[in-house]
Amino acid sequence: MISKRYNIKNWTRQNLREWFKKNEKNHSSLKSFRADQVFNWLYQKRAESFDQMLNIGQGTREMLEDHFYISSLKVADNLKSRDGSIKFRILLDDGNSIESVFLPHKNHNTICVSSQAGCAMGCDFCMTAKMGLIRNLDPSEIINQIFTVVKELPEEKKIRNIVFMGMGEPFHNYNNLMQALEILTDEHGFNYSHRRITVSTSGLLPKIRRFGLEKIKANLAVSLNGVTDEVRTKLMPVNKAYNLEKLIKVCSEFPLESRKRITFEYILIRDLTDSLQDAKSLIRLLHGLKFKINLIPYNSTPGGKYNAPSPEQSRMFQKYLLDHQIIAPLRISKGQDIQGACGQLVVGNIQ
Ligand code: SAH
Ligand code: SF4
Repeated sequence: MISKRYNIKNWTRQNLREWFKKNEKNHSSLKSFRADQVFNWLYQKRAESFDQMLNIGQGTREMLEDHFYISSLKVADNLKSRDGSIKFRILLDDGNSIESVFLPHKNHNTICVSSQAGCAMGCDFCMTAKMGLIRNLDPSEIINQIFTVVKELPEEKKIRNIVFMGMGEPFHNYNNLMQALEILTDEHGFNYSHRRITVSTSGLLPKIRRFGLEKIKANLAVSLNGVTDEVRTKLMPVNKAYNLEKLIKVCSEFPLESRKRITFEYILIRDLTDSLQDAKSLIRLLHGLKFKINLIPYNSTPGGKYNAPSPEQSRMFQKYLLDHQIIAPLRISKGQDIQGACGQLVVGNIQ
């Protein structure tokens, strides 16, 4: 028995193959295709112990057991909204917790997942920002969130979309995010289509560039929220380092596969971002890009200094965009009554 065992869900199939290859010399029964089988057991059959992996010889199973363990997470509690969305608080091994939200739609359920416990980006309108960054999630924690939520749902509530719009800035935890995406999209793993995964960023430009070059072509969403540097910097400190001009340039160079477009998230805040002049500037700013805009009426948060727009103003703003042939769904905020809507995810005490 070796002293430290590895969390096997932090390993990609390629990592595991290499491990099997390296160990092959001493254990002739271990072949790299074992990695495919192990992946199948872990992610398709959701095995919780190596003993369950019946088509793998006992010797190999024992060796796996000596070197690895299979992690899982537990739901600490959940809150059900009147609109059917459910916010799960999930306990991490070190006592911290994160939140994931199940968002039902008629025929395409979505899970909104966290990439970090807390967030370091300090956006002025966001509850998660008030926690500061506690820590990055490792790949297994990102994946286990989804497992844990799916396990709690009735069979028919299949997840169609995975969106990284929960707690944290995914590109601040880039390597772990990419490793999780590799496992999620692996045909022997979760076998999830990259088309159904969206990563939302506040605009870390070097990482947007790098993301564009990855072989996993997940969708990109960018939190825009302001149409002038003045307003955007007030709302999102990241704009000081990466202003609108630089952001738009990087977005215009982002390689899009056919059919795809960048999603820009735009919060409507009363008297700050919700005027028709802002709508006009928004169109001018994004001119030439292939995009859609998700309009999110500001969700007021306890102690928050901003106000939600009136429903009429939100609709007028949307109509202006629609009249200019822009795809602009107005996100009817789900889970408001359970503080499970955008920017309301927060765990623990806020100073
Ligand atoms: N950190 C990433 C992803 C998580 S935030 C990002 O910022 O893109 C997900 C979305 O929620 C972002 O578009 C953000 O602008 C929005 N959001 C945060 N707080 C909000 C609030 N109080 N009301 C409405 N939307 C909010
Ligand atoms: Fe972090 Fe996104 Fe909230 Fe900004 S909006 S503080 S980046 S979670």
